[in-house]
Amino acid sequence: DVRVRFSPSPTGNPHVGVIRTALYNSAFSRHFGGTFVFRIEDTDAARDSEESYEAMLEALRWLGLHWDEGPDVDGPHAPYRQSLRHELYADAAARLMEAGHAYHCYCTPEELDERREAARAAGKPSGYDGKCRSLSDAEIAAFVDEGRKPVLRLRMPDQDVTFVDLIRGEITVDRFNLFDYVIVRANGRPLYPLVNPVDDALMGITHVLRGEDLLSSTPRQLVLHQALRDIGFASGPLPRFGHLPLVTGEGNRKLSKRDPESSLQLYRDRGFLPEGLLNYLALLGWSIGDDVEVFSMDEMAAAFDVTRVNSASARFDLKKAEAINGVWLRRLPSDDLADRMVPYLQAAGVLPSPVPDASLELLRAATPLVQERMTVLDEAVGMLGFLFAPGAVAFDDDAVAKVLTDDARPVLLAARDRLASLEKWSTETIEAGLRSALVDELGLKPKHAFGPVRVAVTGRRVSPPLFESLELLGRDRTLTRLDAALS
Ligand code: GLU
Repeated sequence: DVRVRFSPSPTGNPHVGVIRTALYNSAFSRHFGGTFVFRIEDTDAARDSEESYEAMLEALRWLGLHWDEGPDVDGPHAPYRQSLRHELYADAAARLMEAGHAYHCYCTPEELDERREAARAAGKPSGYDGKCRSLSDAEIAAFVDEGRKPVLRLRMPDQDVTFVDLIRGEITVDRFNLFDYVIVRANGRPLYPLVNPVDDALMGITHVLRGEDLLSSTPRQLVLHQALRDIGFASGPLPRFGHLPLVTGEGNRKLSKRDPESSLQLYRDRGFLPEGLLNYLALLGWSIGDDVEVFSMDEMAAAFDVTRVNSASARFDLKKAEAINGVWLRRLPSDDLADRMVPYLQAAGVLPSPVPDASLELLRAATPLVQERMTVLDEAVGMLGFLFAPGAVAFDDDAVAKVLTDDARPVLLAARDRLASLEKWSTETIEAGLRSALVDELGLKPKHAFGPVRVAVTGRRVSPPLFESLELLGRDRTLTRLDAALS
């Protein structure tokens, strides 16, 4: 049975790279009908925060990524928060030590520094030199008498470590680059290099799909996995690893948690749909087939093959993300789209909360006018805000300067007169009336005829189709706005 896990550390805000990792794990497990475990790696009290943990849960929920086991749903391997699993780690550490896979190291940081410098100067590898690997009882007793507190180190093998990465193929690390690393601090705190493999082993994880930044820790972790099986702490085959390509931003730099454009919240605030954002994130390293860029998560799960993930880094391209989101937005039933715009219009103060029925009706009627041109929900504020302004509309400065000039006065006057005298108020009568008054009678080109009306009524040079917009706005408010522009 396939079992994968998504195991973020709760530091900072969820970012697009980490969400891509969650998505690939989810698709992989769904493809095989496997289990998706969500585990929180909160072993670094100084950097972890409850806020960040909540934000991660909330982000995954918003995106609709489901997990089968996790801190909030439990499961056979609970608890799923590492901060609650200390006894397990202490037990693993003690048993590794008893079996000789790990040993106490009494070197002080100063001693380590000194020897590292010397090794460097001599052109030798500068990792831990194994000094405490085989201390005698007397040496240990002497260190203890001095009051030294030991760290625990894992003993690395005297041979190269080779494994086959699911994405990158065979990877070998020379034994000279494998150093006995610290798995438990002198104060008893178990470290990531211990707890991460221990949990993967105990939770029966079969495949580890994670970012390329963790590739260098994999050989050491495999050694630990083997040791845990040797001592009977865990059983079953070693997990297989696949390292996902880096996500880069502008200038091909790695997109880090600290870059504002990496924050998932940013895309949510701009009005990406979960469907659109997930679809775009899926493309950061994988494709469903040549020339197919738009697909659902069900389609992705059916087709996902981790061995076809690209190893080259993937650049986050905002324009493309928006274009894909736009496709998803156009696919929505327009009433659904209208409903999804509501929070954005509320956040901008365009609509009150709760939304009056009449406003919701107006919004739903107007949505088809903009559905073809929107890429993100936040655009609703600029495109449709004019419909909900009670009286005059806020004018865009540039639109006033370029369009509402002195030349526009006769146009607005003629438009006002004609609109005031229309018998029936509909898209067709409005269009016919304005064409006859402005194009036929004043001899204006359509652009010069309708531009001033558009700015007077919507405040902007770009708006939804004009005649439909006027119909929705109603005669009274249309005339009021023409008057305001004329005054
Ligand atoms: N907790 C680690 C991190 O957030 C992930 C470890 C892993 O996936 O193996 O970087």
